[in-house]
Amino acid sequence: MPAEPLSPVSPWRDYRPAADELAGRVILVTGATAGIGRAVARALAERGATLLLHGRSAPKLEALYQQIKAIGPEPAVAELDLERAQGPQYQALTEEIEKRYGRLDGLLHNAGLLGNLSPIEHYDIGLWQRVLLVNLTAPFILTRCLLPLLRRSADASVLFTTSGVGNRGRAFWGAYAVSKFGTEGLAQVLENTPIRVNSINPGATRTRMRAQAYPAENPDTLKPPEALAVPYVYLLGPAGRAVRGQRLDALPPAG
Ligand code: NDP
Repeated sequence: MPAEPLSPVSPWRDYRPAADELAGRVILVTGATAGIGRAVARALAERGATLLLHGRSAPKLEALYQQIKAIGPEPAVAELDLERAQGPQYQALTEEIEKRYGRLDGLLHNAGLLGNLSPIEHYDIGLWQRVLLVNLTAPFILTRCLLPLLRRSADASVLFTTSGVGNRGRAFWGAYAVSKFGTEGLAQVLENTPIRVNSINPGATRTRMRAQAYPAENPDTLKPPEALAVPYVYLLGPAGRAVRGQRLDALPPAG
């Protein structure tokens, strides 16, 4: 078996973002109401980004809106259930962004659904479709709708979220692994656009999804989602301008 290529040194290794690093940038974060999305949204707002906070729950979005408003520029919220949303809802969101901001500088595809961990012969077909909808089809539709607004930005960044099972499948990881393969494929298909497109693997992080996947694991052994701030700010902000077409690990494996 050929040796795995060594992970490249993280380009953000010595990066310390300025307090106003993202001032004037309009960034949409999907799945901003929990886990990594919420922590990254806070980090982006603290550095001056104007956020569009996506979620599926109005009460969660309202609470998040208040938190973000207290630490950064006034955000906007976008309520959309990615399992159910249809074309007209995506279109309405696109028109709303155009009306408010006229462009989009960053798009972080973070929302995700784990599904079940089970052998393929037992994998629930409906659940398979839901996972593919949330993790792969919704990012495709959102990107497709928002590309014209991203093109109007002087320096737009699209960031997909992949996983350790996104380029090497693993038994039982079913639809989730396949959706992340698709995510990385979509990012590669987009490489010929003038916009920078990358995928990030956040690695094991203390969130609800991780606890669902590894219920016996002690969460205290994992990094909190706040530890991911620097790579996300780098890749969505001006510092990462030259990074394109990459699949990056947020924190390279130790050792
Ligand atoms: P969480 O389960 O904590 O958060 C997932 C987010 O996605 C929530 O905001 C959730 O909304 C939203 N979401 C789920 N389904 C839908 C839907 N149908 N419509 C709209 N929003 C939805 O997960 P993490 O923070 O752990 O994961 C974030 C990303 O990181 C995912 O893409 C995941 O695959 C990836 N990842 C995570 C790792 C980890 O160790 N945690 C490791 C590798 C990758 P709500 O708050 O309403 O539930």
